[in-house]
Amino acid sequence: MAIIVPRSSWPLASSALRLFNLLPAYNRPPLLCTLRHNSTAAAAAAEIPEPRQSPIQILRTLAEVRSWRRDQLIKGLTVGFVPTMGALHAGHMRLVQSSLRMNDATIVSIFVNPSQFAPTEDLASYPRDFEADVEQLAAQIGDDRQVDVVFAPTVEEIYPNGIPLDIDQQKGAFVTVHGLSEQLEGKIRPQFFRGVATVVSKLLNIVSPDRVYFGQKDVQQTVVVKRLVQDLCYGSVVHVVATGRDANGLALSSRNAYLTDQTRQDAAVIYKGLQNALMVYRQNTSAEKIIEAVVSSITEKFGKEDIEYVCVNDKDTLEELEIVQPLKGAIVSVAVRVPNKFGGKTRLIDNILL
Ligand code: AMP
Repeated sequence: MAIIVPRSSWPLASSALRLFNLLPAYNRPPLLCTLRHNSTAAAAAAEIPEPRQSPIQILRTLAEVRSWRRDQLIKGLTVGFVPTMGALHAGHMRLVQSSLRMNDATIVSIFVNPSQFAPTEDLASYPRDFEADVEQLAAQIGDDRQVDVVFAPTVEEIYPNGIPLDIDQQKGAFVTVHGLSEQLEGKIRPQFFRGVATVVSKLLNIVSPDRVYFGQKDVQQTVVVKRLVQDLCYGSVVHVVATGRDANGLALSSRNAYLTDQTRQDAAVIYKGLQNALMVYRQNTSAEKIIEAVVSSITEKFGKEDIEYVCVNDKDTLEELEIVQPLKGAIVSVAVRVPNKFGGKTRLIDNILL
C-alpha cells in the first residue's frame, strides 16, 4: 500500500502511520475515519494545501477500547477522556481542548445514556448527529494534538442485560451517590444521577483514563462524579472546565437546538441574573437576597411559574445555605422552563460559583 503525503499533512499523517505501524496486525484499528478524502499525488506535487484528514479512530466495542488503552500504556502515553452524549457544540470543545493540552492521547465518547432518562423524558428525540460530531472533533487541534479515538458504543455494549427506562424494572448493578443526588436536579429528575453515576463508572472502567473532563455547566454532576471517583477508588483525576456560552451569555447546551431564535435571545436573562447574584453577594451574603437577584432577572422574560428552582448550595456537600461564608463560597444554580419551537417547554440549567 502506498501513502502519498503532502507536506501540509505531515503531522497528521505521522500520527496515522504511528497507529498503523505500531499496532500488531491483529490489532489494527477497525476504522480509520477519513472525513474528507481528496488526497491526490497531483495536489501533493502542486503543493496545494490539502483539506485536513482525520486520524480519528471510531471504536464501537469495549474490547477495542481496552486494546487501544493498553497500547497507550505500553507506549507510555497519558490518556484524557471526555464523556459526552453527542450533539457536540463549542462547550464540549472546551473539554476536548483541555484534554488535548494536558494529555498525549484523547478519547471522546459519544453515547446517549438511556438510564439517565425517565420514561417521560426526551431519550428518543435527543439530538443526534454523529457525522457532524466526528467532523467537529477532527477539526480540533490543541498543542499539535488531535482527538485519537471516538468511542461510540451501542446500548447493548454498555447495558448487555438491557436497560428498561422504568427504574422499577431495572435489574443488576447500578451506582448511586447518596446524599448528593437527591437535591437540585435530583429533585426534579429522581433517576438522573443514578444513571449518570452508573454510566460514568462503566466508562471509567472501560477507558481507565489518566484524566477525565466534565463541564461546570452541569455543576451537580461534577460534585457527584468527584465523589464517585473518590469513594469507588478510580485512578482518574477529574477536571472541571468552565462553561462555554453564547455571545449573549446563554450557556451552550445540546438542548438549545430546541429553542426558537426569540427564546434563545430571551434566555440571556438567566446568565444576567447569575451575574447580578454575584454583584449582590459582594454586598450581602444572604442566600435570600442572592436568589431574589436571579429571580427578578429571569422574570423580565419568563413566568415565575416556569422557574423550577434557584438555589444557593455548598460547593462540596450541596447542602442548601441561608448565608454564604465568604471563605467557602457557594454555588448558585438555576433551572428554568422556556418555550421551545415545538410549542412546549425546554428546561435550561445554569450556575455560577460565588
Ligand atoms: P452532555 O453531552 O450534555 O452529556 O455533556 C458532556 C459534557 O460536556 C459534560 O461534562 C457537560 O457538563 C459538558 N458541557 C455541556 N455543555 C457545556 C458547556 N456549555 N460548557 C462546558 N461544558 C459543557
